[in-house]
Amino acid sequence: MNSFAQGLDFLLQQLRTFEELRCSRFDRSMVDRIRRLAVIDDVPGEPPISRDETPGNPSPDTRKPAPEASCEPAALTARGDEQAERLAALREKVLVCEKCAHLASFRHTVVFGVGNPSADLMFVGEAPGADEDLRGEPFVGRAGELLTRIIETMGFARDAVYIANVLKCRPDIPEGSSGNRPPTPEEMQTCLPYLRAQIEIIQPKVMVALGGVAMRGLFGTTDPMKALRGRWHLFGDIPVMATFHPSYLLRNQSLSEKRKVWEDMLQVLERLGRPITERQRNFFLSRGS
Ligand code: URA
Repeated sequence: MNSFAQGLDFLLQQLRTFEELRCSRFDRSMVDRIRRLAVIDDVPGEPPISRDETPGNPSPDTRKPAPEASCEPAALTARGDEQAERLAALREKVLVCEKCAHLASFRHTVVFGVGNPSADLMFVGEAPGADEDLRGEPFVGRAGELLTRIIETMGFARDAVYIANVLKCRPDIPEGSSGNRPPTPEEMQTCLPYLRAQIEIIQPKVMVALGGVAMRGLFGTTDPMKALRGRWHLFGDIPVMATFHPSYLLRNQSLSEKRKVWEDMLQVLERLGRPITERQRNFFLSRGS
């Protein structure tokens, strides 16, 4: 048996275990993909996969999910619990950080990050704005609403992914003025160890860097987004897709720019091995440019 066949065999064994456990949280798309690879349709309790079904066009799953019983294999649960605990401990530390005195005295809250501690997909923005500073959660203003729509159109719930910023405090602005300013390279450099620690705990399979400032914070690059966007970059061994920041899309309403972001998200879904529906694939095709 070659190593691919061995890997497949291992996955099929895992699949049967999950099926036997009736694990409702096991990723159904992954189940379907493994089955198609193995061309099997004899998994107990499952209707066979129809032969004309293609990976890019899965049929809707109409089965009722199994009850949210304690179906998660112990090892997975333990790993998730450990990640949640480690993130919570890190959060306690970051919440009282005063490394940047000017930011610590200006902020209402430290905006640590939010989402699934064992997320496969992590989004990284630049810094909290006024809304995030008040709420203590990243991406909750208008740009956040747009990001949430993008995440949901990708087929994820917002709380299934992880969202964080390079800088955890809102950049200060002169008293009496309004709006937000981008973080400086020095501020991002100071805060980067916290983001690194988050990434190290979560170990996402794929990350998305939202905008040029986030790219600068992560990679130190000053290249324009024109050169960075739509391409994969490596943060350690984690692939990072660079795409436009949602605020840019709010400022620039042109369909062609939105389409570019969506194409980047399709690349992300492909990299994650997620099935892409026809509707997702053609999201902007019927809408002109
Ligand atoms: N922009 C960001 O980069 N991050 C936020 O949390 C909000 C807006």
